[in-house]
Amino acid sequence: MKKSPKNCDNCARCCTWEAEVYSEDNVPEDMNELVVENLWMMKRNPKSNTCIALDINTLRCTIYHRRPTQCKEFEVGGKFCLDARRCSSVKILS
Ligand code: SF4
Ligand code: SF4
Repeated sequence: MKKSPKNCDNCARCCTWEAEVYSEDNVPEDMNELVVENLWMMKRNPKSNTCIALDINTLRCTIYHRRPTQCKEFEVGGKFCLDARRCSSVKILS
């Protein structure tokens, strides 16, 4: 049976992108940083070139319930998700 694009297939490609952190978000302090004035971002894992909160073995978010609004609002099966899934050049480096 073909999988619905509305189901997350746990590819984690959306976690290779930069994730902004809003002031109302509750991410762990040591996982975000001020990059320019008033712009906080999730830190990166330099080894995998993914968000620091991604467990690169399980490809799961380690702060799922405290993830940034941007991540909570990311639409599974939406344009960006489908584009990410199609993009074979994006790899999780381990
Ligand atoms: S890109 Fe889409 S399918 Fe892949 S992990 Fe993110 S939400 Fe899930
Ligand atoms: S906070 Fe979690 S869901 Fe958001 S990019 Fe990082 S690992 Fe992915």
